[in-house]
Amino acid sequence: MLVMMKSNATREEIAAVCRKIESMGFKPHPIPGSTRTAIGITGNRAPVEPFALEALPGVGECVPVSKPYKLVGRELKEDTTVIDLGDGITIGGGRLAVIAGPCAVESRQQAREAAAPIAAAGARLFRGGAFKPRTSPYSFQGLALEGLKILAEVREEFGLKIVTEAVDVESVDLVERYADIIQVGARNMQNFSLLKRVGRARIPVLLKRGNAATLDELLMAAEYILSEGNYRVILCERGIRTFADHTRNTLDLSVVPAVQHASHLPIIVDPSHGTGRREKVIPMSRAAVAVGADGLIIEVHPHPEQAMSDGNQSLDPVEFGQLMSEIGQIAPVLGRSMA
Ligand code: PEP
Ligand code: MN
Repeated sequence: MLVMMKSNATREEIAAVCRKIESMGFKPHPIPGSTRTAIGITGNRAPVEPFALEALPGVGECVPVSKPYKLVGRELKEDTTVIDLGDGITIGGGRLAVIAGPCAVESRQQAREAAAPIAAAGARLFRGGAFKPRTSPYSFQGLALEGLKILAEVREEFGLKIVTEAVDVESVDLVERYADIIQVGARNMQNFSLLKRVGRARIPVLLKRGNAATLDELLMAAEYILSEGNYRVILCERGIRTFADHTRNTLDLSVVPAVQHASHLPIIVDPSHGTGRREKVIPMSRAAVAVGADGLIIEVHPHPEQAMSDGNQSLDPVEFGQLMSEIGQIAPVLGRSMA
C-alpha cells in the first residue's frame, strides 16, 4: 500500500506516519515527489489495513499497489527520478547523461589517454572496469584495487564522475570507497545478495538488464535495491540474447518507453554491449537518444585494436567525438540538452 500525503503535509506529519508504519512492524519509504510525498510500505506479508494510517494528520489517501513492485513504480512517484551526482552532473530529467570509457582499466596511461578526449568531447562520466566478469577464467580479470586507484586519479585530473562494476558483495566495499556509481552487471542482475548489499550503499547504482531478463524481472531486481533504502538506481538496457547473430546481442530499445511507462527510474542504453560491433554503436546511439533514453554508456579505448577486452565494440576517441556531435543534434529535438 502507498500512503499519499497531502501536498501541504508538513515534515513532522510525514515523520509521524513513518513512525506509525514502523510501530506496525513494517518499513516506511518516504519518497518526495514534485507535488506531494508518497510513502511506500514494505515488510508486510499481507495487505496493510489503511484505517490507522488514513486517520493521521497530513494523509491524503491510502492506495493499494497493483504491481508486484512497490517502490520502483510510477504509482509511488509520478515524476522521473533525477539522480544528482554533484558538480552539476545529473542522470534523469532534461539532461542527457553520457558515460564513456574503456571496458576495463588496463593501465594508468590507457585510462588517461581515454579520459582526456572523453572529457574534451563533453562527457561528464567515466566508465572502466576494475573487476571484470569474464566468460573465461583465463581472460583478463581486471586490475582490482589498482584499477580503482587509477579511476580515482582520473576523477581528480579530468573532473569526471566514476562508474565501475562490483562483481560480488566483497568488491562493493572497495568500489563504494573509490567510485561515484556502482555498476551491477548483466550477469549479476539477479544476484540477490549483491542487490541487497548495493541497496545499503551510500552511492547510486547502475543496474544492467540481464541478457534474458524480462521488464518485470529487471524492475524487481531494482526493487531489491530500493527496498534496502537506496533509491538512487539507474537502469540500463544492454542487449538481450535472441536468435539474431549479426550482432553480439539484440539491443531492445522498446524497453525504454516500457520502463518509462512503468517506473520513475531513469534508463540509459549501452549500444556497445548491445551490438558488440564498433560500426553499429553510433547508429544505435542515435536511435537510443531518439527513443527517449536518459543517457548512454559507451566503450571508448584509445587504441581499440590493443584492448584487453571488448576491443571490437570500442570506439576510438575520434569516433566518440563524432557520436557526441551527432547525439548533440538529436537531443534538443527530444527536449533534452547534453549533460
Ligand atoms: C561492461 O559494462 O563492461 C559489462 C561487462 O557489461 P554487461 O554486464 O552488460 O555485460
Ligand atoms: Mn565491456
